Amino acid sequence: MQRPIDLRSDTVTLPTEQMLRAMATAELGDDVYGEDPTVRRLEEVAAQRAGKEAALFVPTGTMGNAVAVLTHTRRGQEIIVGVDAHIYDAEAGGLAVLAGLLARPLECPCGRLEPAVVEAALRPDDVHFARTGLLCLENPHNAAGGVAVPATEIRATAEVARRNGLPVHLDAARLFNAAVALGVDPVELTAPADSVMFCLSKGLCAPVGSLLAGTAEFIAEARRNRKMLGGGMRQAGVLAAAGLVALETMVDRLAEDHANAQALAQGLAELPGLEVDAESVQTNMVYVGTGLAPAAGLVEALKARGVLINAVGAGRVRFVTHKDVDREAVARVLTAASEIQG
Ligand SMILES: *Cc1c(COP(=O)(O)O)cnc(C)c1O
Repeated sequence: MQRPIDLRSDTVTLPTEQMLRAMATAELGDDVYGEDPTVRRLEEVAAQRAGKEAALFVPTGTMGNAVAVLTHTRRGQEIIVGVDAHIYDAEAGGLAVLAGLLARPLECPCGRLEPAVVEAALRPDDVHFARTGLLCLENPHNAAGGVAVPATEIRATAEVARRNGLPVHLDAARLFNAAVALGVDPVELTAPADSVMFCLSKGLCAPVGSLLAGTAEFIAEARRNRKMLGGGMRQAGVLAAAGLVALETMVDRLAEDHANAQALAQGLAELPGLEVDAESVQTNMVYVGTGLAPAAGLVEALKARGVLINAVGAGRVRFVTHKDVDREAVARVLTAASEIQG
């Protein structure tokens, strides 16, 4: 029996040989004392790639987002966020539990928070209301299909916040997927935001780690909040070493994952009973509607044929391509799916 083809997420990717070698030979120190040279180097490189003054290495994207909201806001404020944004929908309620925020979830068609919709959600200065404290955008937008939102649209929405003195946090877990898909420097996508979080542990294949970037002042305060959450790691250079290799070697190849996702989407679209919007497939995700058939049935049937995917609702599943899924694997997935749907 062949190893299963795992399309549940790009987080299942294993570190490359080069990463493992870099981890084994990394120069280390105690990062809570600021003495891990490898973490420092990663934070410098990450800040530069994100076009910000400074960056902070965090264990997970979820912690990066939590640290960001803790640093930008005060308890009792409101955060404007897309209704299916990861930070609102998939981070265990951290906005409320950790940061004491009230969420103002807004419709976010195709991953876009429209400027006028954001403008209308801003709270006037009135004792009845919580104060609006933060605008959070997401790019690529995961639940909208991994769609890459162009810089012009991010700028337009962020501009509403800027005019109203509101900080902007960008959850760009897959920042480099968006940049590669749009053919732009990631800095174009991050420039409109005050802070940005991106992950090394997804399509970039590092085993662990994410970064939060922003001004030097913001990151200094974020460092304190990371410590508070228990994210002050010691010889974290052993992880940062893999992250540096990820940024050096794994960004350009994301185009392959996108092409494979496109091939998968087009193949799935031809099968009866599956609803695929191939045009919304812009990065490495393919969301598929299962019509009246339960998503769990498709998940189980594919699993029996050596293909792992996730159900993301009663009638929706998600396929995610990554380094460990090549074009031949895509063909095998399509064969398996056609046996079920045929
Ligand atoms: C994966 C993801 C996160 C969280 O990252 P973890 O490292 O899994 O905690 C945040 N936002 C988006 C959009 C994601 O896809």
